[in-house]
Amino acid sequence: MGSRLWFRPKLYFCTMQNNEEKFKKVIAHAKEYGFVFQSSEIYDGLSAVYDYAQNGAELKKNVKEYWWKAMVQMHENIVGIDSAIFMHPTIWKASGHVDAFNDPLIDNKDSKKRYRADVLVEDHVAKIEAKINKEVEKAQNRFGDTFDKEQFLSTNARVLEYKAKMDEISHRLYKGMSDGNLEDIKQLIIDLEIACPISGTKSWTDVRQFNLMFSTQMGSTAEGANEIYLRPETAQGIFVNYLNVQKTGRMKIPFGIAQIGKAFRNEIVARQFIFRMREFEQMEMQFFVRPGEELQWYEYWKETRMKWHLSLGMGQENYRFHNHEKLAHYANAAADIEFNFPFGFKELEGIHSRTDFDLTAHEKFSGKKLRYFDPELNESYVPYVVETSIGLDRMFLSILTHSYNEEKLDDGSERVVLRIPAVLAPYKVAILPLMKKDGLAEKAREIMDVLKVDFMCQYEEKDAIGKRYRRQDAIGTPYCITVDHQTLEDNTVTIRDRDTMEQQRVAVNELHSMIYNKIRS
Ligand code: ATP
Repeated sequence: MGSRLWFRPKLYFCTMQNNEEKFKKVIAHAKEYGFVFQSSEIYDGLSAVYDYAQNGAELKKNVKEYWWKAMVQMHENIVGIDSAIFMHPTIWKASGHVDAFNDPLIDNKDSKKRYRADVLVEDHVAKIEAKINKEVEKAQNRFGDTFDKEQFLSTNARVLEYKAKMDEISHRLYKGMSDGNLEDIKQLIIDLEIACPISGTKSWTDVRQFNLMFSTQMGSTAEGANEIYLRPETAQGIFVNYLNVQKTGRMKIPFGIAQIGKAFRNEIVARQFIFRMREFEQMEMQFFVRPGEELQWYEYWKETRMKWHLSLGMGQENYRFHNHEKLAHYANAAADIEFNFPFGFKELEGIHSRTDFDLTAHEKFSGKKLRYFDPELNESYVPYVVETSIGLDRMFLSILTHSYNEEKLDDGSERVVLRIPAVLAPYKVAILPLMKKDGLAEKAREIMDVLKVDFMCQYEEKDAIGKRYRRQDAIGTPYCITVDHQTLEDNTVTIRDRDTMEQQRVAVNELHSMIYNKIRS
């Protein structure tokens, strides 16, 4: 868990990249090609809730497997669990969510639109940062090759003035958030003369706290019902099971517990497609360590997680760390891995050194000891925890936005191609008989029957071959196999590479190992 009054404020703000056009196209493409649909669309949708369609579900499943393999299968000392979404309500008291998992909200009296007060201020700061970027651009044009950006940023009077303004606003926001001083946050909005983007007026209500947890009733009658919550993070399911897993799995510290599952947050302003949803999925791992060794493990996991992202080959320049200067109450170190989304660098994953905060709180609220007996030290203690927490949907979005490409081809035609890393692509292979007749379809089916045991395959015989290639490019299928008349003579096919569009003639009995190696590399 991160931001809001857990005080995980960002004391700097992302570079705004005006890539809106591309983002709109990606969203439209996701719908048109069966990746993501608005939930309940025929009833006009449900805000910030989405369904994964046939290709999206495959991509999502592959991301989960890729993560699970790296975290669980490749680490002897990490095991996975699948805990329930409903949990005892006291768990959320102990974790602090009931009292403090809040966002500050504010309404504009004229448009009746609701905003997150901190986001209104952050957006204002982002506009100041955009002005800095404009100054840089102008200077770059003026000085050409001799331009030294670093020097310009640290000496130009106007830039320094903007930066000072940004710092001042950010610090005031941070202070207001961490002290729970909602009056000052409202005053900040007034002082900055922030207007509602819809009505254009500055007529604001007071700022109020809004708890992000969804609640429901458990029990057969309303009278005897207990209020319970839909979990806002998967981590607590790991904490309350940690001793059970440690004992039954005979785990020795350091060890980890991983989990993939749904989480629910009643986000006030849910924007940017699947970036911020009300129902989403997390892939989390809690690593239990000796007290005093947590910071060294924190560094280890920061580096390991970054390597995992880079292994997908989506460009080193698209990732960066954001180390938190100010920390949440449960943490003694924290960083985000940010990805360069079309709307700027934003949090994709959080790595937090959570100390013994959660386990100690659960000891206190449950009255049960959650200690680990360390045979090497011959003593019992409450372990410290380092957490890695990534949003599956955000990961999905990073892949989709990065892989979407519009290309002009040599023959003047155009194609849209999703350059999804092959290991994650929904379908690995498309099998395309050049034509239906002459036994080509039967031969293609024969090849498919062998390959489909290990790879997701799609069979297509309709339309001209070029059109079929385009359809496969649009859903990111890395390899297309074409069965033609020569296949019937010498048992070879052509295999076309999605990215280079090059075709190679290969023997049918080499296909399996070839595709396997390509997907793994
Ligand atoms: P943010 O500051 O963007 O609200 P957070 O710091 O509250 O995120 P955490 O509580 O650290 O997020 O959750 C871990 C991960 O879960 C995040 O890095 C993000 O990828 C994902 N996540 C959090 N909230 C959402 C959401 N509403 N929709 C989709 N993914 C989310």
